Amino acid sequence: MIYYNVVLLVVLLVLIYFIATMRKRPRCYHQEYADVIERLSTDDLDGAVERTRKLWEKEPDNVKLYLVLGDILRKQGKYDKAVRIYLNALVNRNLRDKERVYKGILLSYLGLDPERIKNFLKKPPPVRSEENLKLLLQLQERAGLWEDAVETARRLSWKPEEYSDYVAYIALVSGKKEEILKKAGRLTPSPMLLYVRGLVAFEKGNKDEAVKNFTECLKKNPSLSFLVMDKLEEASFEAGKYGEVEKLYEELLEKEPQNPEIITGFANVLAKKGKMREAVDVLEKHAEGVSSLPLLSRRLLISLETDKERALELAGELAKKVMESKKYRCKVCGNEEKEYPLRCSRCGSLLSYIRVWE
Ligand SMILES: [Zn+2]
Repeated sequence: MIYYNVVLLVVLLVLIYFIATMRKRPRCYHQEYADVIERLSTDDLDGAVERTRKLWEKEPDNVKLYLVLGDILRKQGKYDKAVRIYLNALVNRNLRDKERVYKGILLSYLGLDPERIKNFLKKPPPVRSEENLKLLLQLQERAGLWEDAVETARRLSWKPEEYSDYVAYIALVSGKKEEILKKAGRLTPSPMLLYVRGLVAFEKGNKDEAVKNFTECLKKNPSLSFLVMDKLEEASFEAGKYGEVEKLYEELLEKEPQNPEIITGFANVLAKKGKMREAVDVLEKHAEGVSSLPLLSRRLLISLETDKERALELAGELAKKVMESKKYRCKVCGNEEKEYPLRCSRCGSLLSYIRVWE
């Protein structure tokens, strides 16, 4: 019996020794890691995946390996596989930085189609970091989950005006202006938000309210004239407030004397009221050095009073010129587009386009 106990004790001691030494000297895989890096550096992504998988079998608790593997697969465009690897990392007890894994998952879903994204977002990951919230926002937009996007944007550390602009953007892009404004609640009235509020009022037949919002919008940012002027004139006309447009344009022109949109708009309003001489004066005063468009319109207006045939010719020329020269430029990156985009396709900025004439 004593002999038996001694044997048991020896076996136990040997076991303890082994466990202790194993802990002290974990196996190192420097060579294998170097192999993965080498493959990555030569763009042999398949090779890198294979080596990482082998490493992972040896070190199943090494969370970083999941991330490396997930990232490589994602860069290869194997988004589904990448997501599976990241999800494995999420259940690993050694995981400390969940946000890092969420980032991988969100980025992978950005490569998948809207239906898949929509499905995934039925139970979105509880992200907290600014970076991940922005990715989540992108996904919600792609999936058309507009109200959720407004909710996510509220959690970002944007300035109140930026948030208002975002709400305005979502309202325009979603086609659900009223619902989105309602969902967003109280907002700082940014110029773009005022424009959208004006549109909502206009569509509901509340022309006075529309005029009020459009006017405020333009006073805050006259360079949105290209977007707002037509609507404002329409609403003002229907509200019987066309007279006020003239006053407003005069005021705007003082702030932006080089804005061709306002120059021509102001002249047009005067012309419509039969104040031909004043219209010509406005064009003459402001046209120099702005662009050839106002110059053309000036010649047209002068001809209207003197030579009707020449006026007709000029009108055709002017219309053609307007179509050719109208374009929109991103204030942030300088990208140009023929149609007005709400979001820049190059730099991703929102509502950053202004109309330019050349
Ligand atoms: Zn841009």
